[in-house]
Amino acid sequence: MTKNQLELLVLYQDISMMLLEAEQEEKKAGFKLKGRESLEKARDDLGKRIETRLLRTFQRLNTRYIRVIAPVQDGTCLGCFARLPTSYEASGRSDQTIMTCEQCGRILYWIE
Ligand SMILES: [Zn+2]
Repeated sequence: MTKNQLELLVLYQDISMMLLEAEQEEKKAGFKLKGRESLEKARDDLGKRIETRLLRTFQRLNTRYIRVIAPVQDGTCLGCFARLPTSYEASGRSDQTIMTCEQCGRILYWIE
């Protein structure tokens, strides 16, 4: 897996959240919004470019959290504020590995 996959997943999360907002707007408005289908298509197209295993992890976590991907700052997961083992830093910053938080299970990304 590469950072590229993580970037796609961040986009996927963004679109999923926009869809969630559109659904709430629809509830308020009481009718189906036009943009929603475009959002669904964009999300599904993006989903095809993400590794199945990674996408499944995201979807499983998405039933628990709205934000599945959490930034890391100063060795702390900003999803649950747990300190991460120092060994996470090197692997997490490399381009090869995608790490998840031991505490909350969120997918982690490091702020440059
Ligand atoms: Zn966490």
